[in-house]
Amino acid sequence: MSAEEHCREYRDVLRRALTHALDFYERLDLTSVCATTDRSRLRKRLAKPLPIKGNPSGEVIDELVADVSDGLSRSAGGRFFGWVIGGSVPAAVAADWLTTCWDQNAALYSCSPAGAVVEEVCGDWLKQLFGLPENAGFALVTGCQMAHVACLAAARHALLISRGWDVEKKGLAGSRPIRIVTGTHSHGSLERAARLLGLGAEHIVTLPTDASNRLAGDVLTAALSSQPDEPTIVVMQAGDINTGAFDPFEELIPSARRVGAWVHVDGAFGLWAAASPQYRHLLHGVSLADSWSADGHKWLNVPYDSGFAFVAKPESLKGAMSHRADYLTHDAEARDQIDWTPEWSRRCRGMATYAAIRQLGRNGIAGLVERTCRFAADLVARIGALPCAEVLCQPSLNQGLIRFLNPGHDASQEDHDRFTNEVIQRVCESGEAFFTGTTWRGKRCMRVSVCNWMTDEDDVDRSVEAVKASVGRGV
Ligand SMILES: *Cc1c(COP(=O)(O)O)cnc(C)c1O
Repeated sequence: MSAEEHCREYRDVLRRALTHALDFYERLDLTSVCATTDRSRLRKRLAKPLPIKGNPSGEVIDELVADVSDGLSRSAGGRFFGWVIGGSVPAAVAADWLTTCWDQNAALYSCSPAGAVVEEVCGDWLKQLFGLPENAGFALVTGCQMAHVACLAAARHALLISRGWDVEKKGLAGSRPIRIVTGTHSHGSLERAARLLGLGAEHIVTLPTDASNRLAGDVLTAALSSQPDEPTIVVMQAGDINTGAFDPFEELIPSARRVGAWVHVDGAFGLWAAASPQYRHLLHGVSLADSWSADGHKWLNVPYDSGFAFVAKPESLKGAMSHRADYLTHDAEARDQIDWTPEWSRRCRGMATYAAIRQLGRNGIAGLVERTCRFAADLVARIGALPCAEVLCQPSLNQGLIRFLNPGHDASQEDHDRFTNEVIQRVCESGEAFFTGTTWRGKRCMRVSVCNWMTDEDDVDRSVEAVKASVGRGV
């Protein structure tokens, strides 16, 4: 193939992709939010025999789109309120496409000088947006899960090196166990980080949270003083997934630090509150921690996958991650990402984050945070006013909880749980909106989570109507 022919093929297939992408966006509002096909149909269509002979690239793309389209959630749009999911702002989508075309291996400065500098700038901007120490080390990773892994690896390094144990050399066998202290509001990704790092799920001490779902100072202090010499990581929550609660950092962090504990903050979405003057107070004192995790693919609305790890003392992160080999070209001046990230070869995911921050600006991010919080409050208040509905958590941020009471005379707790599940399922099947459920303090409820930059008043109206119709169908 000549260079000209390569170009022609790219032009053809990328034009097709552009047309499909624009169709997807144009129909976003008209298409069911929930996938409308099922596993067996998807498998039948997609599980073609392993191709022996290749296929023309344009055909591959047309068929892929035809085969997957009704199996896609429209989580990119404004009426998807399940889990904690964002969409993607246009500049981030476009930058992400280009990242794919440029195909940079963002491991080393020498492999992609622009990629390294873009990530350097992202780290700097993010620290400013989150109000974190300007000298903190950072890594752009796949999501908050891997940000926890990176941050807790830094914690493991620091806690053990200060006790004369080089965990990178010796491993964990023979070292003192590290205790992780957190609250019942912590996210499951913490437990997995503990498993991956060999810290062990059994070494997580889960403390009860108070009525407003926060860790209380006296509860934490009592737990920490029980074994004061044990190497300890305290994990605090900046926005939990059920109620959006923030731990009282200003009070808790100094008391944890006094006993020599490492403080890590899970701020997957909650750290973005720092961008808004209206919500920033929730994070008061958070900058005193040792490490922080956040997501780009949730509230910043960049495409998957995008998460951020920050460590106050850069040498702790570097101590856990840095990598040297004779065949690599390290640059003394530049920032080689491989010294900060758990991956070797990796996507240059900084481009999308860079573009999103440039498109939105600090004010745009603040506006996005405030607007989605307002919509979450509206959704919960209006759905909560429907017959049978009961609000369990009116959002203080962008997360809320509602359940639906079975109207039967002697309805039991199980009947309410079943009716709540039924309502969630009906709403999703209507295709008008998408919610997920959870069990909160023993009660089944519907979660309302708003993070998408596209969500508007019309989406809120349509979603309330969809829930109203689903409740109206009765038990
Ligand atoms: C989403 C989430 C995580 C996990 O993040 P991923 O980006 O899915 O890896 C951790 N903690 C909280 C509070 C979350 O909302």
